[in-house]
Amino acid sequence: MLENIEIPETLEDAVGILADQPGAGILAGGTIAVAVLKAGGLKVQTLVDLSRLPIAGINTDGARISIGAMTLLSDLLENDALAFMHEAVRCMASPTIRNSATIGGNLIIGGDLGVCLLALQSELVVAGAEGVRRIPIDEYYTAGLRAGEILTAMEFDAPDRATWRHCKVMRKKAASYAVLSIAAVVPLNGSIVERPRIALGALAPTPVRARRCEGMLDGKPLDPEVVNAAATEALADIEPVDDAFASAWYRRRVLPVYLSRTLLADNE
Ligand SMILES: Cc1cc2nc3c(=O)[nH]c(=O)nc-3n(C[C@H](O)[C@H](O)[C@H](O)COP(=O)(O)OP(=O)(O)OC[C@H]3O[C@@H](n4cnc5c(N)ncnc54)[C@H](O)[C@@H]3O)c2cc1C
Repeated sequence: MLENIEIPETLEDAVGILADQPGAGILAGGTIAVAVLKAGGLKVQTLVDLSRLPIAGINTDGARISIGAMTLLSDLLENDALAFMHEAVRCMASPTIRNSATIGGNLIIGGDLGVCLLALQSELVVAGAEGVRRIPIDEYYTAGLRAGEILTAMEFDAPDRATWRHCKVMRKKAASYAVLSIAAVVPLNGSIVERPRIALGALAPTPVRARRCEGMLDGKPLDPEVVNAAATEALADIEPVDDAFASAWYRRRVLPVYLSRTLLADNE
């Protein structure tokens, strides 16, 4: 049963509490954690509330962007350097939830932001009892965080806006989880694709890179024939399941169509 909520002011203190009390939980915006707690699904004696830690805010240094884990989803919509991503953020939850939900919480619960961050080849900054370390987002999706670690920031290079692609397929137009989602960076040299990065969401236990599709596009012209063939190849990278939003069969059926449309969309 929850007995204690700690509200540390420094990262060092927060990490110290989590190290001293291995069973303690983390509270960020609380949009999921509080509901799970109320439903009896979070059995912790201590919760460490991150709200006073200095890990919120967006910093841009040239093309490099760093976003603190306690930054709200709604704050992303106020930042011009992230304009390329605004449409993707508006597809996440509702304005009310976005005003409380943090980007750290969204990544940890496997939310839509992770698909964008995977396509952006983000690096995660995490703090634990052994210090601060940086992990590529792919590694996070395979190995997770270590016990007692706090995600403090995410960093990536801002893409040229014309190279960015995003699509989230939903059962309704707002505040709905994904049937599937796609985020991609598709750099072009003339009409030739150069080292594309394509991430897919809601099609496997975690967001995944569509590596085979990327390989088929790299060095080829971005035309419908090439893209349609490559998009079909993406089926080899996914393991969809049935859930309340769509069946695995439906997800497989529609992925190539949405992926082709998304990759061929003119973003100029
Ligand atoms: C009605 C509704 C609709 C939603 N729709 C969408 C949607 O369409 N798309 C979407 O992507 N999401 C959606 N969400 C999920 C929403 O985005 C998440 O609830 C939110 O991002 C979680 O962030 P939080 O700050 O509230 O995390 P919390 O609820 O406080 O925490 C969630 C989990 O993350 C862990 N955690 C949080 N921050 C850190 C950190 N810095 N380091 C380590 N662990 C941490 C906590 O321990 C906890 O286990 C929806 C949620 C609701 C309630």
